[in-house]
Amino acid sequence: MARTLIGVYPGTFDPVTNGHIDIISRAVRLVDHLVIGIAANPSKGPMFSAEERVSMLYEELESIDQNGTKVEVRPFRNLLTDFARDVGATMILRGLRAVSDFDFEFQMVGMNARLAPDIEIVFLMASEGNHFIASRLVKEIAMLGGDASKFVSANVAKHIAARLKEIGSAGR
Ligand code: ADP
Repeated sequence: MARTLIGVYPGTFDPVTNGHIDIISRAVRLVDHLVIGIAANPSKGPMFSAEERVSMLYEELESIDQNGTKVEVRPFRNLLTDFARDVGATMILRGLRAVSDFDFEFQMVGMNARLAPDIEIVFLMASEGNHFIASRLVKEIAMLGGDASKFVSANVAKHIAARLKEIGSAGR
């Protein structure tokens, strides 16, 4: 029987952007089963809870061509390599934006290669026009009253606006 290639695409996804979607659209062409891993990352003080990020990702998946690939979204709180092993993945997919991502990713590859030499880490680049997008900047733009809808889907923009309204009314 042919082997099923399982890949994990991990990240914070706070919130999911057009950059992430670009990487997901490429990743589904490479694996048979893609697990999008949502790192809880409470230390980063996320705008959305892990559960909210999971459901936003599922909402986005409805409008993506999944190329016949099974795509799942799961939160995780443990070590990435352990999570990848738990789901049976042999590949971790990461996106690269600019040289600024390289340093961190280079270190991570080195560490993960020691922890899990059986798991290959593969880097994908978003297409031109999407590679500069970062969740952190999307949130900053939205908080300062800018238009974030160029960088995220209309649905995600709606979630951000709703969250900012909640934060605003809680602060009053
Ligand atoms: P992290 O908190 O690990 O940086 P993110 O949610 O920001 O997680 O991103 C998850 C993954 O997606 C990372 O590999 C990141 O480099 C990649 N990524 C995010 N935005 C883009 C983008 N615009 N283009 C390419 N890769 C991206």
